[in-house]
Amino acid sequence: MGRGMIVIDVDRCKGCSLCTHVCPVDILELAEDAFNAKGYRPVIVTDMEQCIGCASCATICPDVVFTVYRRKREAGAASSA
Ligand code: SF4
Ligand code: SF4
Repeated sequence: MGRGMIVIDVDRCKGCSLCTHVCPVDILELAEDAFNAKGYRPVIVTDMEQCIGCASCATICPDVVFTVYRRKREAGAASSA
């Protein structure tokens, strides 16, 4: 499992591509054949498993498209769900 997860508010995206350049694991890109409600090609995640939850995308996005969740470190043998 990846260390992070993001939720994309697709219709807020204006396809400026800023986020695609700051993701350290390079999993963000603009959709090639999809458009959002504003008529832009929105950002998509290519491999959520690679997300480390660094929040760089959320920090740079001017349009508050991302919500970032960081997965807690798995507990050791002592825990039993
Ligand atoms: S939280 Fe970090 S690793 Fe995950 S998509 Fe955003 S920039 Fe990439
Ligand atoms: S920085 Fe925000 S508005 Fe720009 S492409 Fe990424 S998600 Fe869309």
